[in-house]
Amino acid sequence: MTKYVYKFKEGNASMKNLLGGKGANLAEMTGLGLPVPRGFTITTEACNRYYDDNKTIAPEIEKEIFDTLAETESIVGKKLGDPADPYLVSVRSGARASMPGMMDTILNLGLNSEVVIGLAGLTNNERFAYDSYRRFITMFGDVVMEIPKSKFDKEFEAVKAVKGVKLDTELDAEDMKEVVKRFLKVYEDNKGEPFPQDPKIQLMEAIKAVFRSWNNDRAILYRRMNDIPGNWGTAVSVQEMVYGNMGETSGTGVAFTRNPATGEKKLYGEFLMNAQGEDVVAGIRTPQTIDQLREVMPEVYEQFAKIANTLETHYKDMQDMEFTIERGRLFMLQTRNGKRTAAAAMRVAVEMVEEGLNTKEDAIMKLDPKQLDALLHPTFDPAALKAASAITHGLPASPGAATGRIYFTADDAKTANELGEKVLLVRLETSPEDLAGMDAAQGILTGRGGMTSHAAVVARGMGKCCISGCSELIIKEEDKYFLTKDGRKFEEGDWISLDGSTGAVYEGRIATQEATLSGNFRKVMEWADEIRTMQVRTNADTVRDARVAFDLGAEGIGLCRTEHMFFETERIFAFRQMIVAKTEEQRRAALAKILPYQQKDFEGLFHAMKGFPVTIRLLDPPLHEFLPQTDEEIRDLARELNMDPEELKDFTISLHELNPMLGHRGCRLAVTYPEIAEMQTEAIINAAINVNKEGGPQVVPEIMVPLVCEVKELKFVKNIIVKTADAIIAKAGIKLAYKVGTMIEIPRAALTADEIAGEAEFFSFGTNDLTQMTYGLSRDDAGKILEAYYRTKIFENDPTAKLDTVGVGRLMRIAADGGRATRPDIHLGICGEHGGDPSSIEFCNSLGFTYVSCSPFRVPIARLAAAQAAVRQRK
Ligand code: PEP
Ligand code: MG
Repeated sequence: MTKYVYKFKEGNASMKNLLGGKGANLAEMTGLGLPVPRGFTITTEACNRYYDDNKTIAPEIEKEIFDTLAETESIVGKKLGDPADPYLVSVRSGARASMPGMMDTILNLGLNSEVVIGLAGLTNNERFAYDSYRRFITMFGDVVMEIPKSKFDKEFEAVKAVKGVKLDTELDAEDMKEVVKRFLKVYEDNKGEPFPQDPKIQLMEAIKAVFRSWNNDRAILYRRMNDIPGNWGTAVSVQEMVYGNMGETSGTGVAFTRNPATGEKKLYGEFLMNAQGEDVVAGIRTPQTIDQLREVMPEVYEQFAKIANTLETHYKDMQDMEFTIERGRLFMLQTRNGKRTAAAAMRVAVEMVEEGLNTKEDAIMKLDPKQLDALLHPTFDPAALKAASAITHGLPASPGAATGRIYFTADDAKTANELGEKVLLVRLETSPEDLAGMDAAQGILTGRGGMTSHAAVVARGMGKCCISGCSELIIKEEDKYFLTKDGRKFEEGDWISLDGSTGAVYEGRIATQEATLSGNFRKVMEWADEIRTMQVRTNADTVRDARVAFDLGAEGIGLCRTEHMFFETERIFAFRQMIVAKTEEQRRAALAKILPYQQKDFEGLFHAMKGFPVTIRLLDPPLHEFLPQTDEEIRDLARELNMDPEELKDFTISLHELNPMLGHRGCRLAVTYPEIAEMQTEAIINAAINVNKEGGPQVVPEIMVPLVCEVKELKFVKNIIVKTADAIIAKAGIKLAYKVGTMIEIPRAALTADEIAGEAEFFSFGTNDLTQMTYGLSRDDAGKILEAYYRTKIFENDPTAKLDTVGVGRLMRIAADGGRATRPDIHLGICGEHGGDPSSIEFCNSLGFTYVSCSPFRVPIARLAAAQAAVRQRK
């Protein structure tokens, strides 16, 4: 029979999955002989049963709870609901992974109108007893019964007003009795029934409320942001109350074994005498620093410092501890691995290895790769952020913090920036034409688009903050304003702030702080490199991006999207000439103008990568993306090209496709216009010859054919590449090795990968398109559709950001196996946006990939995630 309830002394730290982090650590501390108030934990499996049983607690589980309660009562020597000597408890949530503040807690449970009198007599402190009761009524009313807390607060303020005082501490026992009386009435008025006096009912209702809180909106959002599956469930710990508000020899506090902001090895924390935990959090009274406890209660301080040390050594990690002192006696209420800033995480990791507490591998495994973002991008000043209010939320498409004045066109953003303003670009969605504006902006906000939309991909490449898919906003680009859901208007030039790491959009200007890379960070990265087996490359199309990525540790370029190289004014002109060419001759003439630019760019990329492999992809996007859209733009271009505007307009319309993502793009462009592939090959081979001639590290270019679905298609394009390349190499009279490979981004390519590998020397998985096509879900519109899918719990994650290892992953496995069957030494890589996502990286590692490729600022994340994946695979 499944056991659903464990006394603290029956558990230990290895039982986190069952007892939750809090329950497992309370059990572990009990086992270590530390002073922990007694109690028991109801398992995460009971939470899952609660949901399976239609949000009810099965009778056998209820019986187990009460049996364990009875055992605990007999050990403690007190009884729940006994006015003579009441057992009072706290009821707290605790999932496998810590989710601070996401779920609910109820304190002082067991009090009722009789027990409170008993407690007053027992403690000889009537004020304390009624204060505890009113706190319990509030928590039970608010958390369990969903009565707005403000209704209780209003009555509390009213009592203070009648008394003419400001602080809670100025209320005496009689006042607290009055507060309780009013609170009981608030409860009854709102619920239509009196406050439950039976502590057993209180307990069961509180447990159910904690189970329910597993699925409150903020917990669901937190889980999605932190990759925590919804089927883990929360455990519930029921623990004897100890009181920090029993007079001047009582107190409560929170402390870390090291400073969570800097990582410095020194007890860090605060406490309040004569107070309960929530008083510390509420910030009404100013707490004292933990150092001051040494003066206030030297013996308790010594005992606490010793326990802190024991716990840190035991867990081999920085601990975050809650404690209470009840009439001079210390109790430990919680310990967990402490959340820390990214900078502190690096310092703690390095110092714990130096102290011999952790191995390098341990240190690597304890880090959160996603946290590295904070070291690489600007962040908001935490104090300034606290005071800020979010006006809406979108998708956290590219991390970092940005503040600036809003502009609604790329040109306006660029002009304002040239005049010295800090700007943010706000668009419905971005297109290649917005590049200059994106470059000028501190950050980008779009109304549409998902995690792999143009704005998201390009911003990540630039290391710039971006929030995409902010569908609540009504964005009027032409009238240069946007409206929030509640109708507030933000116009051109207004200040807003974007947090690309959370997706929150704030009103006004919030101070940001720049990122700095410390020696600790470099050391941790070196350790990761020693451990990992997969290489990490970058997606880069400009020399600037390539250099940034190289400095951050990229070992080559896994994807250069050549179309991103055409946006500068002179180039786009030649490119458009190429698109509108009516004959092959005209097209070749335009391509000849583009060739020198491309060649120079490739030389720059080869230089920046210093001999590491560089994969260059042939032209991929639908051509009409590069044509002007509005009448005015068409007129201007027609003039430049010496064409009739009507003719150009008709041509633009003729290029229009109903499904451009499934249309004339990828290698299909090279099939219809082989001269494009010829020109690009020529530019790549010439660039490699030139760079190799300099005698430095020798380049072996990798030419990649996009969007292949059929081996014959690849063979056709490969012939063009090989013929062109070999002719140039022969003419130059030198030796140059190069590779031709393909992207796997259409399900049919994955399914026929064994055939395709006959032609391809490498596969690079384009999981943006592969996900889009496997799900039949547009990568540009996913954002607004997914909200409903999260709400209805059909999806827990955005598959365009976190690889779907079940479906898309199955195709990848088929392709990897097929590719290896034909060509055992085939190189396998990933260059879709998933290449920078830790859980997706782990999956690629499990398939034996040669490398992952990601945007430059994700390179360190990928290095760390690849190391963690290697360790996990070994275990
Ligand atoms: C992909 O589809 O995953 C890919 C890398 O190509 P793009 O995003 O340019 O379509
Ligand atoms: Mg693609």
